[in-house]
Amino acid sequence: MTAPDASPSLSPLDDVRARIAQAAKIARRDAADVTLVAISKTKPVEDVLALIAQGQRVFGENRVQEAQAKFPAIREAHPDLALHLVGQLQSNKAEDAVALFDCIHSLDRPSLLTALARAMDKLDKRVPLFVQVNIGAEEQKGGCAVADVPALLAQARAADLPVQGLMCVPPAGIEAAPFFALLAKLAADNGLAKLSMGMSDDFETAVTLGATHVRIGSALFGAR
Ligand SMILES: *Cc1c(COP(=O)(O)O)cnc(C)c1O
Repeated sequence: MTAPDASPSLSPLDDVRARIAQAAKIARRDAADVTLVAISKTKPVEDVLALIAQGQRVFGENRVQEAQAKFPAIREAHPDLALHLVGQLQSNKAEDAVALFDCIHSLDRPSLLTALARAMDKLDKRVPLFVQVNIGAEEQKGGCAVADVPALLAQARAADLPVQGLMCVPPAGIEAAPFFALLAKLAADNGLAKLSMGMSDDFETAVTLGATHVRIGSALFGAR
């Protein structure tokens, strides 16, 4: 006789939610203060709809064009969705991005800031922003240098852009915790309340260190 399965298997979404809740509890935080952004890049519309059917409402994409192809139809049926941009943004796509997204996590340079300010003024729409920080000072990686963050924030304030926090993608293959802690310190020093940090492999660590937005793809949708 085989023993009954001790723990009925959770859906990936329920599993991720439970792990966020557990990490929040350890850190004595309210799990409701952590927004799960489901990163659906490269995944088909059906996968997004399946997650919507399970109650997920916040999605993220890393390419403007892919999001333009996938989300307008989905949103017509589900107007309560929020769509976040988490990828590098070219200045010439700023207006498309402002038109489509509810939040942009990848403000990283003065020229993009100028383009976003122009687009927001033109469309009369203020899109909340995160400044992406190159937290590991990696040569090839996008993001604003740590030392340049105060100047970029000052420029954003002068242009009346709603920067709500900082975002990072820590270096691959090494412990992420020190980088998350550094981003949290940088945000606090600059009076910013929100932290976009933590992906499939490290979101629990990020939540214990103060993440308010975790960006999770493969743990929800499977490998890309
Ligand atoms: C793809 C991507 C994610 C999600 O990565 P997973 O490891 O699949 O969870 C998060 N943030 C950014 C910026 C991404 O490009």
